Amino acid sequence: MIIDKAEVIVTSPDRNFVTLRLTTDDGVVGIGDATLNGRELAVVAYLKEHVAPLLLGADASRIEDMWQFLYRGAYWRRGPVTMAAIAAVDMALWDIKGKAAGMPVYQLLGGASRDGLMAYGHASGKELPEIFDSIRAHQEKGFKSIRVQTGVPGLKAIYGIASQAADTGDASVRYDHEPARRGAKPTQEDWDTRAYLRHIPTVFEAVRNEFGPELPLLHDGHHRMTPLQAAKLATSLEPYDLFWLEDCTPAENQEALRLVRQHSTTPLAIGEIFNTVWDYKQIIQEQLIDYVRSAVTHTGGISHMKKLMDFAALYQIKSGFHGPTDVSPVGMAAAMHLGLAIHNFGIQEYMQHGERTNQVFRQTFTWGDGYLHPGDEPGLGVTLDVDEAGKYPYEQAYLPFNRLADGTVHDW
Ligand SMILES: [Mg+2]
Repeated sequence: MIIDKAEVIVTSPDRNFVTLRLTTDDGVVGIGDATLNGRELAVVAYLKEHVAPLLLGADASRIEDMWQFLYRGAYWRRGPVTMAAIAAVDMALWDIKGKAAGMPVYQLLGGASRDGLMAYGHASGKELPEIFDSIRAHQEKGFKSIRVQTGVPGLKAIYGIASQAADTGDASVRYDHEPARRGAKPTQEDWDTRAYLRHIPTVFEAVRNEFGPELPLLHDGHHRMTPLQAAKLATSLEPYDLFWLEDCTPAENQEALRLVRQHSTTPLAIGEIFNTVWDYKQIIQEQLIDYVRSAVTHTGGISHMKKLMDFAALYQIKSGFHGPTDVSPVGMAAAMHLGLAIHNFGIQEYMQHGERTNQVFRQTFTWGDGYLHPGDEPGLGVTLDVDEAGKYPYEQAYLPFNRLADGTVHDW
């Protein structure tokens, strides 16, 4: 079980993905996701130049030791590039260990704590009829829990509204499903927090009236509010019984969430841009959130996320792992294995990859009746088709950004 090959494979079937592929001297192959949306090549360089040479000749069975070596040994800690690179190594080693043991990774993590993973999808629309149609379309696809994002009167383009693709005149841009746009520069959108805060309760009132009280509804505030505005948002949505309100304010200022908590019982989810358990220390200990939003891909892999979730469990905080389409099928599989095994699983975000992506990454997970399951293939259950991956070279692509009416850059 000695690592004798470490390859970094970049492919762009529907969007860019970075995959680390390790091969042992006895021929076992493991893969890990290292995709960092819009900054992919930074992780490629980190892996190729600084990590791959260290992996060659190492014992593939020593997952924890390798994690600590890459984290502590580098001296420079945390940060999305470092933690995505470590995550890819960690996932690939768990994949190898599962294959060597003849078991799916969730069995190695203690076995299944449930039959399947409740997953939510992304409904959106500029106006109510479109939103209703989008919710119904998700229900027809089997989703039992649904995130709702809405246009705001007076704003032309807002992140997370799928139907904006029609306005671009470019049918190949599937906005929201593939939010990064290919090109040399990011696209500019607009924002007005006061208009949003006025409009959003009317949308959730209408959705509740149309779909009834039982449907779990989620909403993403995308870091756009000040602490006081976040408290106002959480309070105004309280009558509509959200499953969670996500990223109501930028969580770098963690004590800001105390203000939100003082005013509202709307459940809060935060953390998709966090990288380590230390980023969560205060908000977990003070019970300022209800759901951990990290992706396995961006938070140091399965080993580190298991520790994070065990820490969260002490405070009855559950998982709500990040699952946008820029987390590759490998990263999604890692999230599913971990989510199936831990006791404090909450919900899994599930955006569904495009068909070309599914051809590059052959997967064994199942989806039905609102639930995901990673399958029972040994390892993570995902195979990278290198020939298929080679058909889609990297293309520069960026997430959008926002400016307010006066030109000020804002959280998008
Ligand atoms: Mg989000």
